[in-house]
Amino acid sequence: MFDTHLHTSFSCDSRMDYNQAISAAQKLGIGIIITEHLDLDYPENPEEFVFDFNEYFSVLGPLRQEDKLLLGLELGLCAECAEKNRQLIKGWPFDEIIGSIHVVDGIDVYSPAYTLNGEKKPVYGRYLAAMAECVRDFDDFDTLGHVDYICRYAAYSDQNLYIDDFYAEWSAVCAELSRKEKALELNTRRFDDKTAVASLLPLYRRYRELGGKYVTLGSDAHRAENVGRGIAAAWEIAESIGLKPVYYKERKMFFDRR
Ligand SMILES: [Zn+2]
Ligand SMILES: [Zn+2]
Repeated sequence: MFDTHLHTSFSCDSRMDYNQAISAAQKLGIGIIITEHLDLDYPENPEEFVFDFNEYFSVLGPLRQEDKLLLGLELGLCAECAEKNRQLIKGWPFDEIIGSIHVVDGIDVYSPAYTLNGEKKPVYGRYLAAMAECVRDFDDFDTLGHVDYICRYAAYSDQNLYIDDFYAEWSAVCAELSRKEKALELNTRRFDDKTAVASLLPLYRRYRELGGKYVTLGSDAHRAENVGRGIAAAWEIAESIGLKPVYYKERKMFFDRR
């Protein structure tokens, strides 16, 4: 079983040493895909989420091991940086690329300003519309990362994203994913919150209804104690909805096993 999303110290927001991640995975008996952040043109500090691919592959390449340690990337998607993203990743031997929305209309979704400047409905609606545009116009990713990323930091008393409020926007995302046979990540970061999990289920059911078949399971760990967290629960959820857990090796899809 693979945890397909985690960050070590190649990502500027993680201090986890790759050896810590590897030994945490060993203890749990799971495989991991390291997926460091690459976000071009990050607001305020454009260089913040950039790292040296050469160094990444020369340090971690020799440790890469089938079924244990694969080397991926979490690529920040945005309409304006699509072409630059394409050029940048070309030719590098990533196993898996997660496409993630961290920035919308030049604003960092992590920053409180993003949600403080508006009511929840238009703000979340725009976030999902931007996601649909990115998925439609960009192909060089394997799985769509943490759809509920906006909920983590939103300044609303109820942060959950409810399908009924964003049915059309969410359906557009799912239809594109399904058409392109891309996976949808089930990110376990908010799994401690039961209401959060309950609000996620209908989103994944809708993906299934629109022909989506595959999910990747990811903890998004930035610390060793979070490696593999929630992955078993995510597996159960995926199965209950009829979605197949998968992982990517050399950019090809494989069924996950446990
Ligand atoms: Zn992310
Ligand atoms: Zn991440």
